[in-house]
Amino acid sequence: VNINGQSALTDALGNFTSTQQFGTPRISLTGVTILPRSVSAAVNTSRTVNLDAIALGGSFDPVLYRQMVRNAADGTGNEPLRRWTRTPQIYLKTVDEAGEAIHGPMLDLIEATIRSAVPQWTSGALGTPMITRGTGSQLGVPGWITVRFPATNMLLDGFCGRADVGLEGGFIELNYHGPDVNGSTCRTSATVVAARTVRHELGHALGFWHTDNPSDLMARGGWSQSQANMQPSARELLHAAIAYRRPVGNTFPDDDPLTAVNLAPMRAQ
Ligand SMILES: [Zn+2]
Repeated sequence: VNINGQSALTDALGNFTSTQQFGTPRISLTGVTILPRSVSAAVNTSRTVNLDAIALGGSFDPVLYRQMVRNAADGTGNEPLRRWTRTPQIYLKTVDEAGEAIHGPMLDLIEATIRSAVPQWTSGALGTPMITRGTGSQLGVPGWITVRFPATNMLLDGFCGRADVGLEGGFIELNYHGPDVNGSTCRTSATVVAARTVRHELGHALGFWHTDNPSDLMARGGWSQSQANMQPSARELLHAAIAYRRPVGNTFPDDDPLTAVNLAPMRAQ
């Protein structure tokens, strides 16, 4: 353990003792079996500091974590953590962006999928969301995610949906219109919107980026009909749960911010 440039050794249980000036020293945890960790701790009296670190060598995969949490598959691999700190409320639009009604059974499927997928993606860190239906929106309203349906065929741009990543007041867009394009489709034999697409876009909305493994729900690119009702993989859920035990703004490899941070909005497809 390194505190303000001074080293202290932990015992077998991880306990350590350090003497600091009053202030907010930076505490770094390093070791061959953990992902390097750095946090700040306010010091104004004698106190016990409880810190956790991510164990290496077990089921944790640093490559996957960097893809899901840092946008390594498509972007920099250094994005700060974006996630929700409270269960979002969902505003489910009942009309598309041109005012045409969405099929009722389709709305029922989307609603049921979101209700189960929020606690699932976060391993219970977030609860089952309240879902409100209507023809307006809650865009830009903190605490809300708006689910809407563009009037155009999103597949012409190459995707079945897109979402603001971990953004309060952001949106999820689902493709509801248009024919198949070059043999690819967003539909299933039974539904216009695949449950897979809802869970994938919700994964983005909860703060996760793409992986490069086709057997993951957050895999980028196309999917086959056999994956139309796909669930998050066990490894995705494990790494998502770790992210939901870290504060917003946690950075690579595992550094908590000094204070609360405001992150610029980003969007994924
Ligand atoms: Zn995506």
